[in-house]
Amino acid sequence: MECTNNCSTCSSTCGKQCPVCKASAMGVESATVLNLSNRDNLHLDKQFYICLNPKCKVVYFNEENNDIIEHNELSVPVWFKSNFLNYIVCYCRKIYLKDVIRAVFSLENPTKENIITFLNKNNIETNCLINNPVSRDCDILFKNAIEYAMDLKNNQKNE
Ligand SMILES: [Zn+2]
Repeated sequence: MECTNNCSTCSSTCGKQCPVCKASAMGVESATVLNLSNRDNLHLDKQFYICLNPKCKVVYFNEENNDIIEHNELSVPVWFKSNFLNYIVCYCRKIYLKDVIRAVFSLENPTKENIITFLNKNNIETNCLINNPVSRDCDILFKNAIEYAMDLKNNQKNE
């Protein structure tokens, strides 16, 4: 069955594999590929996928036309293919994991909203669909980053 994508709650990888490393891949929106890649001649009417292997240099591909876009061709790094502390949590507001950690250490109640305020990034217009390499919003990334930072904070208190 061909996945028609845009299923925001879907965690399935639809059985697609990266043509280079054969790891699983996930469907993304063409608008994301267009926004983040520097390539012109892409076949944007076709379904694109993102390779989920952190070690593979392929980011987007489309099997039908053999378009392959590598990490160094994108205007932003893909968080799970990057150096850990340089993980980008929110692509629209350019918030990195290290910023979230800094905020969590300073805030009593580090929610996503409070962290964005602390970092002074409230007034930035967001468009996750085209800015986030996986075509989804950053809620999950924020949640994971806050949990990670809270663990660091709690461990430090106990020492
Ligand atoms: Zn790959």
